[in-house]
Amino acid sequence: MAYKISEDCISCGACAGECPVGAISEGDSQYEINPDVCIDCGSCAGVCPVGAPSEG
Ligand code: SF4
Ligand code: SF4
Repeated sequence: MAYKISEDCISCGACAGECPVGAISEGDSQYEINPDVCIDCGSCAGVCPVGAPSEG
């Protein structure tokens, strides 16, 4: 299972720089995780100020 970013995302961008595999990109209305690339490391959840990423 990949991590997912909820609609609580405020598009601060902090998580994208922490992802070791580059799975996070800026989508139309919020940041998104590519489930085919995510390795479930949890780094994005650790840096997010609003707790938007969670384990799928
Ligand atoms: Fe990237 Fe890890 Fe977050 Fe997956 S859990 S999107 S690999 S930082
Ligand atoms: Fe959105 Fe959290 Fe990532 Fe910031 S760190 S872009 S609020 S998911």
